[in-house]
Formats: sequence, structure tokens, C-alpha cells
Amino acid sequence: MFKALLLDKPEGCFSCTLAELDEARLPGNDVADVLVQPAYSTLNYKDALALTNKGPVVRKWPMVPGIDGAGTVLASSHPDWRAGDAFVLNGWGVGETHWGCLAERARLKGEWLVRLPAAFTPRQAMAIGTAGYTAMLCVMALEAHGVQPGDGELLVTGATGGVGSVAIALLARLGHRVIAASGKPHEAEYLQALGAAAVIDRAELAAAGKPLQKERWAGVVDAVGSHTLANALAQTRYGGVVAACGLAQGMDLPASVAPFILRGVTLAGVDSVMAPHARREQAWARLARDLDPALLERMTTEVALADAPAVAERIMAGQTRGRTVVRV
Ligand code: NDP
Repeated sequence: MFKALLLDKPEGCFSCTLAELDEARLPGNDVADVLVQPAYSTLNYKDALALTNKGPVVRKWPMVPGIDGAGTVLASSHPDWRAGDAFVLNGWGVGETHWGCLAERARLKGEWLVRLPAAFTPRQAMAIGTAGYTAMLCVMALEAHGVQPGDGELLVTGATGGVGSVAIALLARLGHRVIAASGKPHEAEYLQALGAAAVIDRAELAAAGKPLQKERWAGVVDAVGSHTLANALAQTRYGGVVAACGLAQGMDLPASVAPFILRGVTLAGVDSVMAPHARREQAWARLARDLDPALLERMTTEVALADAPAVAERIMAGQTRGRTVVRV
């Protein structure tokens, strides 16, 4: 038997409980060839959507949530993994279509797992989680399109969130001048401690704006979408790059083509869930090199498995900051 959060929706009636489950209920060895013991999981925005039944994240019921996990392999019939190996798992539909890591046991596909970098404990890997690994993918997207330190100011939206917090810490450490857009003025000190040179009110970007505005940003990491992304594009300098990964404000993009055709702006889409293995390994290696562990700790709150549903409600209400790790 093992403890797990269990989401269910019999006859449309949603429930989220801490359950004792029989290991025999895990997906079979034919579907997933590595049995793992997650030491830590985490609560990303997507996990919060799942735990509060606010978005169509869960595709099969009942579902053990948890899109991320880090811990130890217990048994494996996959050639790359042996009992005792330390792993990190992000995405691949885990916690959506496949039972996830907010649980003491999970059965996962060996091809989904990445070796836990020596630089990180399982707790630190989950403090990073999908949010932090996605922030790294955004930084890599800016770099791939030529953004370099010294090019000018970079904007990070959704700044006090998981993606935003890690993006600020990474970009500042890499030598960029980072401007944080946040709806939490009382967190300005936190954002500056992560490396933000200045904080602007997210309200400046939240409403419909002109298709081309004063050129300001050499690059943008956007976790917010909607009007915020449209305004960020309209304010991006000639030849600048916008990495878009999120939809905290909305899934729409009420923008014009003007920034693309008149300023040569690049809009780089970033997906973490189905990112190829080699890209994940590259992102985790870069996180090991470029993320200050002291800043990671500063942005991290730890909770017990039983507390995860209540924290998910607070994430959806916009009452949290940085990253939440879940002690499994
Ligand atoms: P968090 O909940 O940790 O942070 C989101 C932040 O967005 C909040 O802290 C808040 O920051 C800001 N925000 C919230 N509501 C609004 C609003 N209505 N308008 C403007 N800003 C708002 O989430 P994550 O950082 O984990 O994820 C951020 C986004 O990125 C989510 O949409 C998530 O689904 C997406 N994502 C996508 C991935 C991908 O693979 N493409 C992977 C990971 C995340 P503040 O208070 O500072 O303004």
C-alpha cells in the first residue's frame, strides 16, 4: 500500500482525497517499465488547476496528480535505469493521462526520466520543477535567437510566480538587466533579491494597447499571455525576442502582426511537456550551472502531501509566491 492524492469525478462530482492505494493499481509494466519512489513532488500552476478541478488538465479518472517528481528508482525493466538510481521527471502527460508523483509510488516510462544532476537533491530538483525547467527553456530560446547580456532590458511577466521567479534569477545571474512585471507591489524586495533591477506594475501591460508602442525590451519571458503578451510584443525593440510559455492572464493573443513585420520581432513558443529528451538534459545541465542554490531556496516553500489541496487553492487565488515543493 502507498499514500497518494487521488482525484476522481464519478458522475461529474469532483473529489480530491489523500488515499491509501494498493501498488497493484499502478499502471502495468507493459505501459510503464520503472517503479519509482518520489521523495518530493511539487505544485505547478497546472497541478493547482488539476487539484482544484479548475482546468481540463486531468484526462482520465481516477487520477493520481503530480506532473513532476524526483526520487529513487525501486525496480526497472528499462535498460537505462536500475534500482537505486536518482531520477527527475517533468511532464509527458504524467498527472494528466498517466498516474503522477503526488504519491509515495509511481510507475513511469524509463524514456521519460532524466538523471538527477549531481548538483541537486530531489528537493532542489522539485523546487525547480516544471516551472523552473520551463524558465530555463525560455532562457535557452532567447539565447538561441541571439539575445545576449548587454543588449538591453529584459522583461519577465508573472514575476512572483514559479516560472517568473526562476527566470529572473537565471537571467540576472547571466548578466542581463531584468525588469519584473508583477501584481504584487509588496513583493518588490523579494523580486530585487532574485536579481530584478526594477519592478513594474503588471496593470501597465494588462489592458488592450496600441499594436506598436515605444521600443523597450531586448527580450521577454512571458508566463501570462493575453493582453500582457500583446503589449510585450508591441514594446519589444527592433530584432528582439519574446519567449511565450504561459497563460496566467488568458489563452488569447489579441495582437497584430506589426511587431513581426515592422520590427522583426521573434515570438518563440516554449513547451516543456513534450520537449525531447536531449533538450531536457541540456536544460537541467544549464540549471545546475546557472541557478544560484541560495536564491532557489529563497523562493521555495515546503508542504506535506496532505496540505497540497489547500495550497493549490491558494495558488489559484494568486496568494502564493515562487515555488512550492511537496514532501512525499
Ligand atoms: P504561478 O501560479 O506560480 O505564477 C503565475 C503568476 O502569474 C502569478 O504569480 C502572478 O504573478 C501572475 N498572474 C496570475 N494571474 C494573473 C493575471 N490575471 N494577469 C497577469 N498576471 C497574472 O504559475 P507558474 O509560474 O508555474 O506558471 C505560469 C504560467 O506558465 C501558467 O500559465 C502555466 O500554465 C504556464 N506554464 C507553461 C509551461 C509550458 O510548458 N509551456 C510549463 C510551466 C508553466 P504576479 O503576482 O507577480 O503578477
